[in-house]
Amino acid sequence: MKFATLSVNNQPVVAKVDENQKAYIPLLAGKEAISDMSWLIEGFEDLRAKIADGPAIPFASATLLAPIPRPRRNILCVGKNYFDHAQEFARSGYDSSASSAADAVPKAPIIFTKMPEAVVATGTRIGFPDKTSSQLDYEAELGVIIGKAGLGISKAEAMKHVFGYIIINDLTERQIQAEHKQWFLGKSFETSCPMGPWIATADDVDEKNLEVQCRVNDELRQNANTRDLIFDIPTLIETISRGMRLMPGDIIATGTPVGVGIGFSPPRFLQSNDRVDITITGLGKLSNTIA
Ligand code: MG
Repeated sequence: MKFATLSVNNQPVVAKVDENQKAYIPLLAGKEAISDMSWLIEGFEDLRAKIADGPAIPFASATLLAPIPRPRRNILCVGKNYFDHAQEFARSGYDSSASSAADAVPKAPIIFTKMPEAVVATGTRIGFPDKTSSQLDYEAELGVIIGKAGLGISKAEAMKHVFGYIIINDLTERQIQAEHKQWFLGKSFETSCPMGPWIATADDVDEKNLEVQCRVNDELRQNANTRDLIFDIPTLIETISRGMRLMPGDIIATGTPVGVGIGFSPPRFLQSNDRVDITITGLGKLSNTIA
């Protein structure tokens, strides 16, 4: 199943995406429309038998919000989780986490976070952090949505905690990322976390074999497969939950493949009016234009 959050009369409405993606079916709990995706995710095991379909809304007339418009907690993100991207990042001179080519590829997952307020929907225009910044870069990523809480989750149990998957653009201001020698400031500015268009439930997706593609103004820049993740999803869940309880609605961005702007020489940063389209098998298209 695919779940989206729509804006209907300026109110959020959680809906199923129909089979042929022609309409959205708002979900009802009793007679009430469900408005909060986090609530649906948290109670899904109990709710799934009870939710009913409301009247369909044609695709073209709906405005999509981010499926979880304001996550309850920071988005958890993984740095350098594809081999070729780790190499391009080290070569670029922007990677303050690697002191030599020898440690370009991490031996354990690198985890950082983005603020919930950075989340925006497909179709939202992306801003620069401020007037002095000019090194905006895209990062196409598979996002994992946690469904079931857990602390100290083992790899063997990890997939039982996954609710579904989503496309994320881990937008980054490279100069800030390099200058401050950490990944939070350059990745948490407003509008830096486009997410959507919808969540596909785990049973809908073969997460080990998904094509991840990113186009800038229709030019293919990133083209990879999730089978090439250095640290797979069970490893990421085991790592993160070691001392931190994962909660329903938590989001893990699994890292970006080779082909980001700083991988080019000279770097190809995003410019005003550039359009970034990210597609992942079965997860639709996330499309945003730079303001
Ligand atoms: Mg990233």
